[in-house]
Amino acid sequence: MIEGVKQQKWWGWGEEGKGYRYEDKPKFPAFVKKMVGVDITAPAETIPPFSSLNVPASQLTDELRGTLAGILGDTYVQTDDETRVVHGFGKGLRDLMRVRAGQLERIPDVVLYPGSQREVEQVVDACVEADAVVIPFGGGSNIVAALEAEPGETRQVVSVNLGRMNKVLEIDENSGLAHIQAGVFGPDMEDQLRAKGWTMGHHPDSFVWSTLGGWIATRSSGMQSDKYGDIADICRGLTMVMPGQVLELRPLPSTSSGPSVREMVLGSEGRLGIITSAWVNVHRIPEVRELQAYFYPTYEDGLRACQQIVESDAHVMMARVSDAIETQYIMANGKKSKSKVSSLVSKGIQKLMVQKGWDLEQIAMSFVGFEGSASHVRYEKGIVGKIVRDNGGMGVGKGPGALYDQKKYDTPYIRDFMLDRGMLCDVSETTTPWAYAEQIHTNTVERFNKLMDELGVQGVVFCHLSHSYHSGACQYFTFAINDNSANAMRTYDLAKREIQQSFMDNHATVSHHHGVGEEHSPWMEQDISPAGVFIQRKLFEGVDPGNNLNPGKII
Ligand code: FAD
Repeated sequence: MIEGVKQQKWWGWGEEGKGYRYEDKPKFPAFVKKMVGVDITAPAETIPPFSSLNVPASQLTDELRGTLAGILGDTYVQTDDETRVVHGFGKGLRDLMRVRAGQLERIPDVVLYPGSQREVEQVVDACVEADAVVIPFGGGSNIVAALEAEPGETRQVVSVNLGRMNKVLEIDENSGLAHIQAGVFGPDMEDQLRAKGWTMGHHPDSFVWSTLGGWIATRSSGMQSDKYGDIADICRGLTMVMPGQVLELRPLPSTSSGPSVREMVLGSEGRLGIITSAWVNVHRIPEVRELQAYFYPTYEDGLRACQQIVESDAHVMMARVSDAIETQYIMANGKKSKSKVSSLVSKGIQKLMVQKGWDLEQIAMSFVGFEGSASHVRYEKGIVGKIVRDNGGMGVGKGPGALYDQKKYDTPYIRDFMLDRGMLCDVSETTTPWAYAEQIHTNTVERFNKLMDELGVQGVVFCHLSHSYHSGACQYFTFAINDNSANAMRTYDLAKREIQQSFMDNHATVSHHHGVGEEHSPWMEQDISPAGVFIQRKLFEGVDPGNNLNPGKII
């Protein structure tokens, strides 16, 4: 490991020693048992020691090693087994299953840690000259197989970790723009900005373990996107190292300079070059920040309310609503004593809901985020409160939202916990126009459940609306399947495929913010049409005729 560069554990999410605990959540074991038939209180599988993996030897030639060490120094040219394995995978479920089973295939031969723009240029040119494969690496948090070398790749594979390039270089206070190096992780970046009174406002669930460059390269979206925009809106300019040349895009609020090159780089997943820095919109830290919780009789009521909120004069920072099963999941995951979430199902509130004629199995929980001056927040809350009431809902205050805010970055650890207990958990997310928002939910849940019946396994899928736009919204599906058999990977693939195909069949996109990688590649023609794929192919071939830059991703 390189000093000052964080690295996730090889077998799961985040850092060693940190994980999910169910012991203080008394309702969670019964919820999991009911939904997927697994007893989570039973002993879990243990993770094999790293030393038990059969790690393929590095194929780095002495010649290329010498050139790279000449550019970076020996310390920043790493070939140890664990570093190479960590850089060979993202954090998709397939990644975790394979790496735990020791199915390592074609991991990088070397991991480089450049410290400057100039070093990245020299590294890219040296690797292309040696006909090596170059794969940029941010936090390794993607879940679409965007980091793997193609199986059977015979060329040398070089992973380029941007982690040493982690500084906020400049803040243009007049324009509300910051120039930031691409390898910075979310918390480090926000600390640097906040120290000067600014925030970027981009908070994906993976915030702690993902980087600015990775967000841009995958077209990421954070939970506050309703106010701050997706990374595609936030990133106004950038520098990207390509074979033999450097792309410089100055930050501009908008421009009419032909097809947008900025948009071509957004979502390029390393196929066009290595993004070394970006100019992003930044904002003054708001005076007040509040998450209010609401309940609706049904998910459909909540969807309608979210659409009305986005159309209203309340420009909220976030409007999220969970379907019935996800609402039950959130409430079952509440802590025993101090949790305000648990108090949501207190007898008093349940009684009130029943008095209103609500079916407690159908209720939908919603969080709406407000930011700004105290008077502005008051004004927005008034508008939202009325919309909630008009749609049959009720407010339950800011306690649950405060708890959600505190715990939001711990949630990813739950997937490892489930996998240790034989459950396959993953997510798929998409956008549709509002006209198809209910349909995508109903049809996807129905198709998933039908597949579970056909396969004879117990599984559950649930969903929330996470990001809203004028014309539509993103819905985010989480699924868990009880399959610990030798067929588990096949079961997972079938479930994931069923959900993605449901997206295609219901006016939805292949992904709203996770990107394409290899995982979503099979649906690209259906998503953007064969002509769209033709344009992307020509772009990649033109910029990278030797097919050296992260080949096989996207198309
Ligand atoms: P990596 O995973 O390291 O790389 C992703 C791709 O980008 C690769 O193709 C890589 O080659 C390329 N790349 C990385 N850095 C550069 C660079 N500097 N120049 C060029 N190419 C580069 N995503 C969201 O948008 N919102 C969420 O809320 C969210 N939540 C998540 C929760 C969990 C538990 C997990 C596992 C993932 C989540 N993701 C989310 C997905 C993931 O975090 C994003 O795709 C993220 O943007 C990846 O950033 P990274 O720095 O980890 O990139």
